[in-house]
Formats: sequence, C-alpha cells, structure tokens
Amino acid sequence: MTKNKNHIDINDLPIGVLLVKRDGIVISYSPSVLLLTDKPIPDGCRIDSLFPNLPFKASKKERTYTFEHSTHGKQYTYRANVKPVEWSNFLVWIENITLSSKVERINRTLVKLSAIGLESTSPEDFYRLMQEELNTLFDARNIYLVLLDKSRQRLSLAYVSDTHTINSDYPSGNTFALWVAHRGQGVILNRQQMNRLRSKHNLTFYGPPALCWMAVPLKTKSDTVGVIAVQNYQNPNAYDHNDLEVLEFVSSQLTYMIIQKERENELKLAKGKAEEADKLKSAFLANMSHEIRTPMNAILGFSELITRESISPEKKKVYADYITSNGRLLLTLIDDIIELSKIEAGIYSIRRQPVELDSLFNELHQFAINEKKRQKQNILIARDIGNNSGITHILADGERLKQVLLNLLSNAIKFTSQGSVTMGYRIPNNATIEFFVSDTGIGIPKSLQEKIFERFRQADETAQRLYGGAGLGLAISKRLVELMGGRIWVESEPNKGSCFSFTLPLIIPNTKNISRIGFPTKNDYNKITGKTILIVEDNEANVNYLSDVVIASGAKSLTAMSGSQAIELLNREKIDAVLLDIQLPDTNGLELIKRIKEKIPNVPIIVQSAYTPAEYIDKAIAQGAYGYLTKPIKVNELLDLLSELF
Ligand code: ADP
Repeated sequence: MTKNKNHIDINDLPIGVLLVKRDGIVISYSPSVLLLTDKPIPDGCRIDSLFPNLPFKASKKERTYTFEHSTHGKQYTYRANVKPVEWSNFLVWIENITLSSKVERINRTLVKLSAIGLESTSPEDFYRLMQEELNTLFDARNIYLVLLDKSRQRLSLAYVSDTHTINSDYPSGNTFALWVAHRGQGVILNRQQMNRLRSKHNLTFYGPPALCWMAVPLKTKSDTVGVIAVQNYQNPNAYDHNDLEVLEFVSSQLTYMIIQKERENELKLAKGKAEEADKLKSAFLANMSHEIRTPMNAILGFSELITRESISPEKKKVYADYITSNGRLLLTLIDDIIELSKIEAGIYSIRRQPVELDSLFNELHQFAINEKKRQKQNILIARDIGNNSGITHILADGERLKQVLLNLLSNAIKFTSQGSVTMGYRIPNNATIEFFVSDTGIGIPKSLQEKIFERFRQADETAQRLYGGAGLGLAISKRLVELMGGRIWVESEPNKGSCFSFTLPLIIPNTKNISRIGFPTKNDYNKITGKTILIVEDNEANVNYLSDVVIASGAKSLTAMSGSQAIELLNREKIDAVLLDIQLPDTNGLELIKRIKEKIPNVPIIVQSAYTPAEYIDKAIAQGAYGYLTKPIKVNELLDLLSELF
C-alpha cells in the first residue's frame, strides 16, 4: 500500500490507527500498524484477518476491547478503541498494553496471594492456589518449591506439580535449585546453559530435563529459605526477563507467606502434641492413681487384719502372701517408672555379655508356664526355635533382652484366653537376630499398632480396667530394643492374635572365653555353710533381712553399720565375704572398697545398691568388687552369688 490522501500521519506513536468500513474492510492505516501485525497488509483486507482475536463489530457506540496478539512469536496484550466516524466508517486505535496489564495482573496476583495466605488451611493448599495464580502471569504448569533446612545446606521438597510424572523424592546432592539458593539471584536457563552448568558444578537436575528453566531464591533480608522454580519442556524461550522480574517480585511476598505458613504449621503440630501429651498425662495420672491405690489398699487392709488376735494362723499366712504379692506389684510399677525415666534421661548403658540362647528360652518357657498358671489362662505355651543356624550364643545385654521378652510374654498371656502363645527367634541374615512372641489373643486394631509403643498408651482405655497394667511395658521395651541397636514392631488382627517381633544386631561371641553364660542355674547352697559373711548396711530392716537369709543358709553373719565399723571388724575377724551397701552415710562406697582391698586383698566384696548408675557399679567392679546385687535383694539371687563365689 502506498501513501495516499487518507494516510494518517502519526508514524512515531506506539499506537496503530486504522480506518475501517462497517464490514471490517481496512480503508487506511498508520505505518505503525505494520509493526503490530508483523506482516504486509494487502489492499481490501479485513481487520479480523490482521487481528483475529479482535472482536470487531459495527456499533453506534464507541467500544473498547482487550485482546491478545502474537508478534515475532511473542504474545502481547492490546487494547483497541473502536469509534464510529463519518460515512459509516470506524476509527480503530490499537495500543500495546502488555506492560501495564502485566503490572495490573501482578498487583492482582499479589492481592490474591495475600488472601490465599490468610484463607488456606494448609501449606499444600496455599502452594496449589499460588500455582494457579502464577499461571495467569506465565506458564507455571510445571512448578516446584524447595525449602532449605536449618543448616541451609540441604533442600527438601515442599511442593511439586508437573505435567510429567515426577519423583516426589528430591535429590539430596548438589541440585540446580541449591545452586540458585547459594547464588542468591534468579536465573533463566535453556538446555545448553544447563548442560554447561551441570558439568561445571556437578549439578543434578530434578525431574526430566526441561528446555527452559526459571528459578528464583526465596529470600528474607538476612537469609535464603528456599527456591521456587518453573520449567517448560517444549519451548526453549518460554520465559523472558519480564517473567523473571515478575517471579522475583512475587517471590518476596511468597517468602514471607511461606515462613508464616510454616510457622503456623509448626505451631499447629506443637499444639496438637501438647494437647495429646496433656491428655496422656491426665490418663496416666488416673491410671497411676488406680494402679497405686489398688495394691496399696490391699497392703493396708491386710496389714491391719493380720494384727488382729482373732485371725487364725492359716489366715495370717494367706494375708501375708497378699501383702507380699501386692508389695511386689507396687515395686514393679515404681521400677517401671524409674526405668523409663532412666532410659529417657540417657543414663542407661548397655552391657553386652555372651548369652546362651537355649538357657534363655528355657528360662522364658518356665516363666511363661508359671505366668499362665498365675493368670489362670488355659492356653498352650510353645517354643519355636526352628532354625538350624548352629548359633548357640550371642553377644547381647542378657538382662535387657530377657526383660523385653518377659514383658512381651506376660502381655501375650494376659491378652490370650484361648489357643496358644509361641516364642522363638530367627536369623534372617548374618547381621540380625529376630525374636518374636506370638499369640492367638484379642489382637490390636491397625490404627493403634504404633500407638501402643508410646508411654502410658493402651489399645483400649477399658483394657486398663479389665487387664490392669499402666501402659509402660511396651514403651520400655521399645526404648530398650532401640538402645540395643534393634527395632520392635507388631503385626496383629483383632480377635485373631498378635505377633510382636524385634531385631538385635547378631554378634557371635568367642565361645572359648565364655565363663558364665546367660543366666545362672540353681547352685548348691551347701558351699555357703560355715562361712562368715560381713554385712555392711545402715538400714536396720535390711540388716535383719540379710542376716536372716545368711544364717538360714548355714553361714555366720557379722554386721557393721558404718565404714569404720566394717574396717574394725575386718581387722579383728576372719571374714569370707563382705556384703557392702555402697551408699553408706559416713563413707564413700568406692573409697571403702579400696580400703578393704588394701587391708585384705583376697576378701570378696559383693556390692548391694538401690538404683545406682551403671557407671558407678563399673567403677566398684574396677576397684575390686566381685559382683553386685540390686535392692530389694531376692533370697535366691544372694545365695546364688555367694555359692558361685565359694
Ligand atoms: P500394659 O500391658 O501395662 O497396659 P504395655 O505397654 O505392655 O502396657 O501394653 C500397652 C497396650 O498394648 C496394652 O494395654 C494392650 O492394649 C496392648 N497390647 C500389648 N500386648 C498385647 C497383646 N499381646 N495382645 C493384645 N494387646 C496387646
């Protein structure tokens, strides 16, 4: 088209102006229109062939339209103003408003993001809506957001949404996003640039390699908290510096909201935990109160009854038994609480020694049979040691191992009124031994199978009334197993039964060096007869008890109530063994052992103590003590140890 008289001379304006007939045929136009259409304009062409998205309509009123149009392969936003003029013609002004509309859209997006931030109930919800909003500004169909951990060295995936199947495990190494986080500046990369960077910095790409990748760090004034990235798999020019500016602009708003959301979430979790803990504490106190009161009532009631003269000696014996068994029950409860606090306070150490599996299971079997009688359950107790690994001994903390198995066994018997309880072990591989106790009892619903390992937890609140127990046994077992380097779990089906299993590292001891394996068998107490035992103890009741036991076994007993008295007696008498309370008021127990050993190096010392830390006992042994007993001392434990000694 050449210049003619209808040509409007406004060449330099960034606006295209056209004169159009009512049927849309272009009569004349400013040269700037050529810049907008990016192609020649043939004579007699229609305006909608130049701008297909402009909905031109002849109308008496002036109208404004906003439409998208591509020039040089890029999409822009235009505003067209269509005004009727003389001779039924129309004047059309077309203006590129991409930038101003983008600013408007960014503003709208920011306002929307703030609203989303306030309204969304979870971070996941927030990120999803955020993606929808960003997608109105540029292609954000493939997006991910990674957050840096506290050390600021590792990224974890907070959100991902992608048109390709994408792994939900974010790579742990040096990724492009981590590189952006450390760089502290946003980037747009095409495939070639990415390949170059990958070889230069040894970077890993997350997801399928994109043709265009844009990412910006999420920064506060002093810190980088994460990275947001979008990627396109088809167009190497999908993003330009305008998009980067937008993402950077949005990212500062986003950072603030993410931090806010993460904090809210942390608070919500902490609140949930605190409420749960509070509930558990109240339930625990109620349980404890019941647990302590029941045996306490029995003890007080029968202690009072036993003193009445009218009661026959047979009845007295029965009452004394009640008092003893209820006292034991209380002691177990106190032991459990102390045990748990000790483990939780981290003052528990594991002492590995050779354990003979066969004697361990003999003892467990005997325990289970007694327990079944005690609990009056008519069930079968079975042993399944169906393996031919040839392993007879393992190196483990025998006491703790036994404690866990005893607890699982007594639970299994408690919750099984028909069928059987089976115990055993397997060797699944040459690094692991797996112990199990299975039963055909009431079972545990799936939803509670993890919870029962928490402290003060019981599968059924009513179970406590029905079966007793404070919900500590499994919590202790779990901690002990973990302390020994294993893990514990349960498989169970309600009304069918449960199988509790736990693993331990399989360590095979050098059997040649085994002097005392696992659990002592009954000794011959005759060896004690005629020996002189010095009891060093300041508590009168304990002195009486220990003397009675020693005398009943045919030995002679001497008593010292203090360290100095003990030394004096050792100087004067011929003593065969010392039973030493390590917590005397006037003397340091370790010091006393040293002094005794200096005077009479060969005299064996057995330390007795209540809840002494293992390290202390280790020191006592290092000073020369022969062995130790934990209070309250059981008759056979004391006699076994003395027999072993002589
Ligand atoms: P306690 O037995 O003192 O209540 P535990 O920690 O040993 O405490 O057990 C917690 C809960 O786990 C029990 O109260 C019971 O509900 C459930 N449980 C444990 N062992 C079994 C089992 N063998 N069969 C069914 N339920 C069991």
